[in-house]
Amino acid sequence: MTRSQKLFSRAQKVLVGGVNSPVRAFRAVGGAPRFAVEGSGCRLVDADGRAYIDYCLSWGPLILGHARPEIAAAAAKALRRGSTFGAATEAEVELAEELRRAIPSLERVRLTSSGTEAVMSALRVARAATSRDLIVKFSGCYHGHVDSLLVQAGSGATTLGVPDSAGVPAAWARTTLTLPYNDLEAARRTFSKLGGKIAAVIVEPFVGNMGVVLPRPGFLEGLRALTKRHKALLIFDEVITGFRLCYGGAQNALGITPDLTTLGKIVGGGLPLAAYGGRREIMELVAPLGPVYQAGTLSGNPVAVAAGLECLRLLRRDRPYRGLNEATTRLVAGLLGAARAAKVPVRVNSAGSMFTVFFCDSPVFDYASAKKADAKRYARFFNAMLREGVYFPPAQFEAAFLSAAHRPKDVDRTILAARRAFSKV
Ligand SMILES: *Cc1c(COP(=O)(O)O)cnc(C)c1O
Repeated sequence: MTRSQKLFSRAQKVLVGGVNSPVRAFRAVGGAPRFAVEGSGCRLVDADGRAYIDYCLSWGPLILGHARPEIAAAAAKALRRGSTFGAATEAEVELAEELRRAIPSLERVRLTSSGTEAVMSALRVARAATSRDLIVKFSGCYHGHVDSLLVQAGSGATTLGVPDSAGVPAAWARTTLTLPYNDLEAARRTFSKLGGKIAAVIVEPFVGNMGVVLPRPGFLEGLRALTKRHKALLIFDEVITGFRLCYGGAQNALGITPDLTTLGKIVGGGLPLAAYGGRREIMELVAPLGPVYQAGTLSGNPVAVAAGLECLRLLRRDRPYRGLNEATTRLVAGLLGAARAAKVPVRVNSAGSMFTVFFCDSPVFDYASAKKADAKRYARFFNAMLREGVYFPPAQFEAAFLSAAHRPKDVDRTILAARRAFSKV
């Protein structure tokens, strides 16, 4: 038995399913999950001392790789001064200023501890701002485990076959209207029927959570126009895309201004930190200025803020995006070549430094087309890659990520590994 296997049996006796977040359990790919011991740059080391080139990267936060020394130092320094005060600190102001400079639509920001919290709060604000109840979401998009949004949700919910979670009151699920991603006509029809009741449309501008899916030209612009016309709010869930595609949000790259934005993952530099924000008059509905209650004992935690701020400053200073995009383009081309050589039909979607290898033969542009992918084949590919020392996300319907710490030689090694792996699936 490996040490990971031993730890997993111990874990299952105390933690639900042996994990603290479902997709970590490797259910979709089989086998015992690897227990992580340390990481450095693009490398992850497991409890048996095996090193992997990591393309899961904690599901998105680690755009600068594992254990970036400047981030670790900033967090350690903050920790020595006191782990939490429950009082305002200067660094929170600096982080909010940094966020607003990068994403001008964030006129006012509130920090939270998780992306789920940020989304949940943004919806509450949207409902308060419009005095309407309905929320439009798109199938396959995942916005955290917010009750009313666990309807046709992507990510682990898809992987584990529970896209509609138990425990969500039917009445709450009915406040969510679910439409196909990239289908502007469906959105138009819904608004022409129910426009006066819709508080907000929430969307991942580039989807990461059914695997990577790109917006068709005009789709997001159309949502912007539609929401404006019907006085509903547009919420961009940029928990993955924030600071992933460029310094700022996908909204900067797209030239579309949402009313509210949620952020997480990268903005915490690997610590638990997220944020929501947007137009001033909407955000000023939040307590203490307005009637929307939202709070958090550890919100704006000084250690997390120090890590997040350092991460954003490094991204602003170094602008690693061009290099990241080039490395991703090379990797994607190599993976496609390797699949072709092994006569394995795949489609690869990529945006900036996020990508997904779909094991299917037709374009993936929404949830229905994503679900055509052969998840069992992905599982065999994943395990073959793992044996080669490459750690992909342990499920088909997830985004893989590159970090600024992935070097060309790491990409080349990955392509070589993929050549062998594809021939075994
Ligand atoms: C990860 C994610 C969330 C949830 O964030 P947590 O920090 O896991 O609660 C919300 N929205 C999107 C788009 C995500 O990728």
